Amino acid sequence: MTAKIDFFGEELNSYKANLHTHSTTSDGSYPIQEVVNLYRAEGYDILAATDHRITNKVSEIDAGGLLLISGMEIHPVGPRGILLHLVALNVPEDFENPSDLPYQEAIDRVIEAGGKCILAHPYWSGFNSNDIMQLKNLIAIEVYNTSTRYIGKAYNMAIWDNILQLGYQLPAIAVDDTHRTPDFFRGWTMICARENTAAAIMEALQKGSFYASQGPVIRRIDFKDHIFSIECSPCQELIVMGDCSFGQCGIVPDFETADIKKLKKGEAKEMASYTVEIPDNAGLTYIRCQLKDRAGNYAWSAPINLKRDGSGE
Ligand SMILES: [Zn+2]
Ligand SMILES: [Zn+2]
Repeated sequence: MTAKIDFFGEELNSYKANLHTHSTTSDGSYPIQEVVNLYRAEGYDILAATDHRITNKVSEIDAGGLLLISGMEIHPVGPRGILLHLVALNVPEDFENPSDLPYQEAIDRVIEAGGKCILAHPYWSGFNSNDIMQLKNLIAIEVYNTSTRYIGKAYNMAIWDNILQLGYQLPAIAVDDTHRTPDFFRGWTMICARENTAAAIMEALQKGSFYASQGPVIRRIDFKDHIFSIECSPCQELIVMGDCSFGQCGIVPDFETADIKKLKKGEAKEMASYTVEIPDNAGLTYIRCQLKDRAGNYAWSAPINLKRDGSGE
């Protein structure tokens, strides 16, 4: 059932992952084995157990074909004294909680142990882009976090674009940050890799070989000779955006409605592919693609870095 993706010219599999999950090991509602069973039954390929300040013994869990990643959500004090929430992935099961260390030491402790760090829900936490620029060696940021929607702070697009523009080329994941029943199955990361092994998946995460989604599916994505192209499930909004006010609109609902009386009356169209030339002289440092389907669910590509030679290669 694993979907294929043509990812920048490479034929890869896309594996559905929830990379931020809690259980009764910390403040979640379900025991970790039950969480695993629920995600497996929903068709996920990968689950990371990331309880607050504590690992789970994932090697003792019956995963039934699901790839389980040993993780921990760590909480060092961050810039301006605000508590950080960092998702540490691929740490050993006996990894000691580094949350009492200064934040950069805590991040580096994760990396020394063979892990990777992702910035969780910055909008909910109260961080601005200058704060995030202080955090070195992260591999991604959460663009969407289901469990923070209860105060309307689930989406992190603005702060993500802000740090991209400041030069921090982080890709983004979407996660459930599962605590309670309403958190399940609303935001995930499609990891594009050859095989579903811990080594291949962690390498894909390090490379930015993934996209985040709440619904839309990307079947092909490419950028070559200044031409960006994508094939996806039908979307009502399809945009390629970059630094500042730069953007190329494939489609947004009612964007071309000329008659004010027809505004909001027209049936919104859908697009399932888009090819657009990105001007060479626009001074861009990155572009990224954002999709939204009829149900209002988003997907986000990883940013394409244009700084090196302008071709994105
Ligand atoms: Zn958190
Ligand atoms: Zn969490």
